[in-house]
Amino acid sequence: MRKHIFNAGPCKLPEQALENTAEAVKELGNAGQSIMEVSHRSKEFQAVIDEAQDLFKELLNIPENYEVLFLGGGASMQFAMIPYNFMNKKAAYVDTGSWSTKAIKEAKMFGEVEVIASSEDKDFAYYPKVDVPKDVDYIHITSNNTIRGTEIFEDLDTGDVPLIADMSSDMMSRKIDVSKYAMIYGGAQKNVGPAGVTFVIIRKDMLDKVVDRPIPTMLKYETHVKKGSMFNTPPCVNVFGVKETLKWVKAQGGVEEMERRAKERADMLYGEIDRNPMFKGTVIDKASRSRMNITFIFEEKYQNLQDDFLKYAADNNIVGIKGHRSVGGFRASTYNASTVEDVKELVNCMQEFEKQHA
Ligand SMILES: *Cc1c(COP(=O)(O)O)cnc(C)c1O
Repeated sequence: MRKHIFNAGPCKLPEQALENTAEAVKELGNAGQSIMEVSHRSKEFQAVIDEAQDLFKELLNIPENYEVLFLGGGASMQFAMIPYNFMNKKAAYVDTGSWSTKAIKEAKMFGEVEVIASSEDKDFAYYPKVDVPKDVDYIHITSNNTIRGTEIFEDLDTGDVPLIADMSSDMMSRKIDVSKYAMIYGGAQKNVGPAGVTFVIIRKDMLDKVVDRPIPTMLKYETHVKKGSMFNTPPCVNVFGVKETLKWVKAQGGVEEMERRAKERADMLYGEIDRNPMFKGTVIDKASRSRMNITFIFEEKYQNLQDDFLKYAADNNIVGIKGHRSVGGFRASTYNASTVEDVKELVNCMQEFEKQHA
């Protein structure tokens, strides 16, 4: 029996995508070979990666002057690749918690980092207002903060300053205006597929902005653009998983429908967190509440029941609601494949627990 999966990443994926990927592991179409065996230079695999790229372009309405890449190394590798390629003197970063803090650490190895906005003063429990500086090579934001449960729902207007966004955990969950961004990237494992592949959407003119420093071939965006993400062997099975996940998104009604469902799930769960006297949300500003990672804790006097609640939830087939080890409490990650039924089950548990203990 399938559980109610609220894992933060790798996350729940559509069953159809899992089944089709499982089939392709046995045999890719009529190729007489598995997706694990087929050459990445074959026409069969080329069709797979082309379809994955085309689905990205179609679902996000990506303009012509952008490339979609599938790389290895995780979103974490991008933290280094971005400054390596684009930082001349100074870059601006928005610090909204763990992931952006890590991105800042890498960028500091290549030049000056100006933290133009931060929510550290309130333990990253809100999304700060961003004022755009003019004299920087780029601005980096993390659109959804997977660990703290905050999210920005607008596409910032940064004028001529390239805007680079880590959208690891809210990609394809709301309509975005890609033309506002110079680059968007993320690990696939939170909304668009299995772990092991990183998507990069990059505006082609960024390749003219690469800094004049020796950059190892594999760490240069130009390499991967020129070779269609196949300078080296791509993670073939994972790219297939992305393709199948995006096919499912399209069949469900696209990003608009994903956004509608995300709002419905988030409203339901935040509604219960706000109603139930045992629980409270951790994000202090309701407008910053993430639709993808819903963080909450027990009110003070119930905090000794934390393990009991986790066990009660587990007994009801709910997995993945323990908060990140750095913040504690609870976190329910409600990515695209998460259903209203999953959330209802969690809400039921919260209500039953209230009856038993409050
Ligand atoms: C998970 C996550 C990362 C790290 O992704 P990896 O693919 O594991 O390197 C980076 N940024 C955000 C916002 C994340 O949620």
